[in-house]
Amino acid sequence: MSENDLQKAIDLIINSKYTIAFTGAGISVESGIPPFRGENGLWSKYDPNVLDLNNFHVNPIEAWKVIKEIFYDFFGEAKPNDAHFVLAELEMKGIVKAVITQNIDNLHYEAGSKEVYEFHGNSRMLVCPYCSKKYHASEIDLVEIPLCDHCHAVLKPDFIFFGEGIPKIAYQKSFEAAKETDLMIIIGSTGEVVPASSIPSFAKQNGTKIIEINPEKTLFTNSITDIFLQGKATEVMNELLIGIKQKI
Ligand code: NAD
Repeated sequence: MSENDLQKAIDLIINSKYTIAFTGAGISVESGIPPFRGENGLWSKYDPNVLDLNNFHVNPIEAWKVIKEIFYDFFGEAKPNDAHFVLAELEMKGIVKAVITQNIDNLHYEAGSKEVYEFHGNSRMLVCPYCSKKYHASEIDLVEIPLCDHCHAVLKPDFIFFGEGIPKIAYQKSFEAAKETDLMIIIGSTGEVVPASSIPSFAKQNGTKIIEINPEKTLFTNSITDIFLQGKATEVMNELLIGIKQKI
């Protein structure tokens, strides 16, 4: 990341009227949650079939064993990192208006962000697939397979499995924000997951500037990104915050 690009990014943020962030698994890597893909990704250890809806209904006991291990025992330990905290602070300062996240780990809320659109849902809640009653995962003993107390169906985590639709409200709010924004900060997303990856492209078509933060180039970098800040989310977000504080 060059000093020149960093300063340009700081100026864009300070002068923007409606900055939003778009985050992917990469922002939570430094909280100890690996992405799904890649060399050390979760799918190198687990079978992605565990998030196949049909498989879940046919083999709920087997599926829950793995889901509990990944999304509750393991994700449950994770705490927000500086990148999550900087976004929350920038929202408090009125600079960031919303965070659109593909993540299901709840870490933006835990860091204090208020306007968060969870495009893929959230693992902290469980939902009954039949009556839609929701439960806080923390109130359910996941040693047993969780059942709805109303209709006794097997509960499902309230994030989307492969082939499921995007939650309506999050979808609507994400695209509304992408229409409104004049500056989008993409943090830690490959751009390979659809339809989420169409949000930055949609914003770009509406004339927004794009700052991207990632240690690696992505599908966004050479197509829609204006300023690529190569580096880890916590390092770059801390640098941005220091620069913003010096100028406002
Ligand atoms: P992804 O599209 O979310 O990409 C991960 C990106 O993070 C990669 O581009 C990688 O270079 C980047 N990255 C790695 N370390 C980083 C760091 N320290 N700082 C910034 N960026 C970093 O890929 P995926 O994991 O295949 O995700 C598939 C879908 O599943 C996405 O919607 C994702 O959000 C979701 N997912 C969520 C979580 C979570 O809730 N924490 C974890 C895994 C996957």
